[in-house]
Amino acid sequence: MIKQTIVVLASLAVAGGALVGCNSAADPEAGAAPAAEAATGASGELPSEVERLAENVYLFTNSSHRSLLVVTDEAVLATDPQGSQANAERFVEAIREMTDAPIGHVVYSHHHGDHILGGAAFPADTEFIAHRNAEPHLAGSEARPVDRYVGDNETIDVGGLQVRLIYPGPSETDNSLIILVPERRVAFMVDAVAVRTLPWRTMDGADPRDWIAALERLDELDFDILAPGHGPTGRKSDVRENIDYLQALIAAVQERIDRGQTLEEIQNTLELPEYADWVRYDEHFKENIQGVYRELGRLNPVIDLLAQGKPVFGVYAPRPPRRGRGGRGGRDGRVGQDPAAPPAPAPSASDLATEAIGYEATDFLFDGSMEGGLERALPAFSAFAAAWEEAGAVTSDPSPRLSHPLIVKSPELAPGVGADIQLQLNLGVSGIMFPKVESAAQLTEALAAMRFRSNGGTRPDDELGAAPVRWGLSEEEYREKADLWPLNPEGELINWTIIESHEGLAKVREIAAVPGIGVLWPGAGTLRGLFSTTDADGQRVLDQEAWEAAIQQVLAACLEFDIACGFPARADDIEMRMQQGFTVFVMSWGDAGFRTVEIGRQLGNR
Ligand SMILES: [Zn+2]
Repeated sequence: MIKQTIVVLASLAVAGGALVGCNSAADPEAGAAPAAEAATGASGELPSEVERLAENVYLFTNSSHRSLLVVTDEAVLATDPQGSQANAERFVEAIREMTDAPIGHVVYSHHHGDHILGGAAFPADTEFIAHRNAEPHLAGSEARPVDRYVGDNETIDVGGLQVRLIYPGPSETDNSLIILVPERRVAFMVDAVAVRTLPWRTMDGADPRDWIAALERLDELDFDILAPGHGPTGRKSDVRENIDYLQALIAAVQERIDRGQTLEEIQNTLELPEYADWVRYDEHFKENIQGVYRELGRLNPVIDLLAQGKPVFGVYAPRPPRRGRGGRGGRDGRVGQDPAAPPAPAPSASDLATEAIGYEATDFLFDGSMEGGLERALPAFSAFAAAWEEAGAVTSDPSPRLSHPLIVKSPELAPGVGADIQLQLNLGVSGIMFPKVESAAQLTEALAAMRFRSNGGTRPDDELGAAPVRWGLSEEEYREKADLWPLNPEGELINWTIIESHEGLAKVREIAAVPGIGVLWPGAGTLRGLFSTTDADGQRVLDQEAWEAAIQQVLAACLEFDIACGFPARADDIEMRMQQGFTVFVMSWGDAGFRTVEIGRQLGNR
């Protein structure tokens, strides 16, 4: 029902002036709409808090929070019933000054309480609507309960005028809707977009790249007037300006991360003068930088370095000396020991982990002990991984980062190895090296064991062990990040594949072509045995030429398929291997290995 119908040319002119705000005053079409109007106040004026955007479409503003109103002869749709009862009561009063038509729908544009807590002021029979992703956020909230949760694309009929609710993906929140009135060419969105205004603080609702994708969706829609939930109303071109700002910010922060700057250094030096006159630049620009840094900063520094094309230097994790034969540690430093003397107490897992974390020059810690099977070696490694967490392996400011990611060898790729890989991943490792890979099929199956079923792999999504905690993440965050890089460019898990048999060498190109390898390695030690023979005196003789040819064959496959190539280097060969094109190196634990890391870092300008 219409209270009064008049020509609203005067209020149109006022609304048009407010509409164009600071950035589109020159556009004569701003606010253009048919002059005749259904809903007006009894005096012929709109309530003072109400601004007309187009025929049937208004904004109500209180305490800087704006709500969209769609008013036709038969019905009213409102968004965002304001953050307090008093503001909401005034909102309902303003609607009643405009029309007696029933308020059929109230839409929560997103779940933030400062926009929605006043719902009780609305009539009992009004249907409250929100995007389905808002449901968990609203559980236990004081907001009026939602009557109907909608999907990503819903249309509501408001007295013959269509209002579309579109969810464009995560932005300020994971349930922020676009409310579009296609026939009136108006789009309303709250907090995710505003006119010449920086996003709020650290943009903690989404990865800014997802935020850009949401704004791209908004930009694809057909409309003229952009009505944000705060600040002046703008034009569609303001959406593009918001996208440009986020892209410029991401590019600038990424460039500085690539140069090795810390968050603090970036915050102290980065300026985007083009945006210096935007609202909140002085207050929130540094926090915007932090938000981008949080998302661009990787958990796994090995992937960070590889993605930047930088060389990577790591060491074997320190291990307790083993008694008896065969142990590497058992040989070291024990020659000449008095056999009658009692053995020195073995260092605890905690001692070893503290020692490992204390060595800061390494990009990762490698453990090869489980190649022969998990039964014997898993307990010691599990204890080490727990101690590694205790010793502070994950730092969380501003985003989780593993200072010493763990990379382990899996057992040989026999059927059933997937279960072993799952056990290893559940300990919180960041990478798994597959020994003696001999075919593409074998590798493909093992790589699938590193990926969740929800990502097309074979790893159960719901059995995560200690991994989330050890990465400093929630289970949900872990599931999102624990995918294989570079198959998933944002994945934080890496695979290393070793070629160390005649079969593997014969199929090295087929193996290298399998997507998902992070680093390909010639198994230099094993290959050495493969290309050695025993001479007449019983001495092992290396066929140096054949051995080197095998190494070069693997390197050639790395270069052909654009995969990083790894090598277990020593001080006397790391420079040569770097010149050849190897970029990932693992060294022994101890002074000789540390010296090699130092040489490598100098040569690699790190
Ligand atoms: Zn807001």
